[in-house]
Amino acid sequence: MIPLGTNRDPDARQGPARRLPVWPRLAALLLAGAAVWLWAGRPSLAGAEALETPPADAAPKRELTPAEAERERQWARQRERMVELGLRGRGIRNRRVLAALGKVARHEFVPTRVAHLAYADRALPIGHEQTISQPYIVALMTQAADPQPEHKVLEVGTGSGYQAAVLAELVAEVYTIELVPALAREATARLKRLGYGNVHARAGDGYLGWPKAAPFDAILVTCGADHVPRPLWEQLKPGGKLVIPVGPPGRMWLRVLSKGADGKERSRDLIPVRFVPLRRPGDRPEK
Ligand code: SAH
Repeated sequence: MIPLGTNRDPDARQGPARRLPVWPRLAALLLAGAAVWLWAGRPSLAGAEALETPPADAAPKRELTPAEAERERQWARQRERMVELGLRGRGIRNRRVLAALGKVARHEFVPTRVAHLAYADRALPIGHEQTISQPYIVALMTQAADPQPEHKVLEVGTGSGYQAAVLAELVAEVYTIELVPALAREATARLKRLGYGNVHARAGDGYLGWPKAAPFDAILVTCGADHVPRPLWEQLKPGGKLVIPVGPPGRMWLRVLSKGADGKERSRDLIPVRFVPLRRPGDRPEK
């Protein structure tokens, strides 16, 4: 109210003839102010609502609207929290791996209806009875693969393409194979849209690896097997790491196999895990 008083006094000094129109003018000013205030409040409200249903196909290159930019900042804050509490807080130490998970937009890799859970530390459904792994497992597997900038890495089980995107932030070339053709198509389109030009994706049986692109510095298998596929071990360079969930269903462990310079195998098990099964073409999907 103080500004009104100070505004009124100078007007009052200008004489009675100008005094009468002051109130209508002030009222108009107040109304205009209120209108501006309400209008200015709208974008942030729209942003909060839209947060629940982010557009599945936003073009990456065009400029963001203020509401979209605010939404991106909110996703970034959620990612930061995920990295601090869910990853660093649980023992992930590799700085490059932490930075990669802090950068990749996981909400772009999950269905819109669960996008609000994208940065919770949990696996999420991606259709075709498959899941995107929880961020902690992605970080643990990536760290165990010891990715270096000049590396060429193979992933078996593209799924949504998220793990491939994380790897693409860390190494020179990523090769990724997915058994379900529809998932392979979706992931390929998604990775292209998001600008991951160093990922080579194809549909096929990852059990057999990718002989034409072999050998690899590291191989990550993101579906669980009851044994380590021989072709994958053979396509690993000496000095390389093969990270794979192994064991009978319900009793799998995340295993890291290291190939010595002499080709010898060393193996260590990290933690018990649950993964969708590695299947072969012709296997029934529900197996
Ligand atoms: N890495 C994925 C999650 C993988 S879920 C992500 O980041 O989203 C495991 C995936 O492995 C499933 O999509 C499943 O279809 C696939 N898969 C199972 N057996 C396979 C095989 N033999 N070759 C390639 N992919 C396989």
